[in-house]
Amino acid sequence: MTAAIGQEARGASLWHAVSGNRRERPALQGGLDVDLAIVGGGFAGLSTALHAAEKGISVAVLEAEIIAWGATGRNAGFVVPNFAKMDPDSIVAHLGPERGERLIDFAAGSADLVFGLIKRHGIDCDAVQNGWIQPAHSPAALEKVKSRAGQWAWRDRPAVTLDRQDVEALTGARGYVGGWMDRSGGVLNPVAYANGLAGAAQKAGAKIFERTPVTSVDRVVDGWSLKTPSGSARAGKVLIATNAYGGSLNPLLQRSYFPLKIFQIATEPLPRDVRTRLLPGGQGVGDTRRNLFTFRFDADNRLISGGMHILSAGADTRVPHTIWRRLASHLDLPDLPPLAYGWSGMAAVEPDFLPHLLDLGPGLIAGRACNGRGIAMTTAMGKVLADWAAGTEVRDLPLPFAPPAPIPFHALLRHAPNMLLGWSMLRDRLDDTA
Ligand SMILES: Cc1cc2nc3c(=O)[nH]c(=O)nc-3n(C[C@H](O)[C@H](O)[C@H](O)COP(=O)(O)OP(=O)(O)OC[C@H]3O[C@@H](n4cnc5c(N)ncnc54)[C@H](O)[C@@H]3O)c2cc1C
Repeated sequence: MTAAIGQEARGASLWHAVSGNRRERPALQGGLDVDLAIVGGGFAGLSTALHAAEKGISVAVLEAEIIAWGATGRNAGFVVPNFAKMDPDSIVAHLGPERGERLIDFAAGSADLVFGLIKRHGIDCDAVQNGWIQPAHSPAALEKVKSRAGQWAWRDRPAVTLDRQDVEALTGARGYVGGWMDRSGGVLNPVAYANGLAGAAQKAGAKIFERTPVTSVDRVVDGWSLKTPSGSARAGKVLIATNAYGGSLNPLLQRSYFPLKIFQIATEPLPRDVRTRLLPGGQGVGDTRRNLFTFRFDADNRLISGGMHILSAGADTRVPHTIWRRLASHLDLPDLPPLAYGWSGMAAVEPDFLPHLLDLGPGLIAGRACNGRGIAMTTAMGKVLADWAAGTEVRDLPLPFAPPAPIPFHALLRHAPNMLLGWSMLRDRLDDTA
């Protein structure tokens, strides 16, 4: 985690390679005293820093590598304002009407918050807010997404159901039986967005340090002391925003989620005329398969898709090619241009797939809102965490709050998402042939 960043690693994702708005930042040297210290410079840390600084709170972000080094710089750039597994009705059943509806409101406005911040701060990140589409791969999945769309539409969200022809016209993909779209979703370049958030946070007064791994966080009188290799910080409150990249900084935290390695690829640019058929509106697509099929274009007309692996041996070279072949076949593109970028990142998957605030001590909190929805959710979580930093009681925040619950047999079960992928693929295939 503390290794220096070489050229190769810096260009690890397409987004790091093509984003022009990166700025170098110093490592922390010596001492620092702030109201709020944030460990981790991804969307969660940066959004919190921006919103806290705008409230006049003195805040510093300590990032082990560079801004957007973690999942923030490695994702697909889909801005998705809903939950990965649960729908509004099941959230109300799970959390009760009051807490449930608050969490639903939090998610519902999250994409609008992202695109609003981009506009307000003039962030140049190829943002397109023209909808996020979830096509259904089977009749059973279609029933589910129709109900999903209805539950969001009932809450005044711009959610619409789509029939087979709608999906084909919007995406160019054939074989789906229908689907739904949340018009407030969209796509962006995540590294350029993160760099823009960092710049806006600094403008508002936040301090950001790179190549500053926090090696310990200890309780002191009136707050916390954070140690780094060349400095230290004292803070009244601390946010741990390390997602699946926190290593053993907090072992309890480390054992309370499933780390999931996800691969992404980008092809060489496609000819522009392909867009008359494929995604003419520039939306993002993630279907209902258990082994999710996703695709979008970037600003240079590269196709981007993702996937996972069952066996880790050789996965780094094998999986990007598998994803490329799947893209060519699902989109009926025999002349798909070659693979230009292949990369991977770690996502933190919560046992209940919901965003969480984790109580680590008085004034010490961790926030995780990933589950494949992190761009919108962690940005929104940052706004909520700035309220906490300003003195709002955690019970008044919209996110579930509890100490981290270690997953039993974590050393073994942490591999469950990958091990279950084979079973998921088999079930998808049975759906396809039904
Ligand atoms: C391949 C992939 C594709 C995805 N696709 C999407 C998508 O399309 N849409 C979507 O909404 N979400 C997606 N996600 C999820 C999304 O990327 C994450 O939810 C989001 O980026 C998490 O942001 P974060 O700030 O919580 O964590 P991260 O971005 O992971 O940041 C954590 C940071 O903490 C730093 N850190 C760790 N330990 C320390 C330490 N001791 N000291 C200092 N710094 C430390 C790390 O270097 C890292 O920069 C995807 C995730 C992956 C992996």
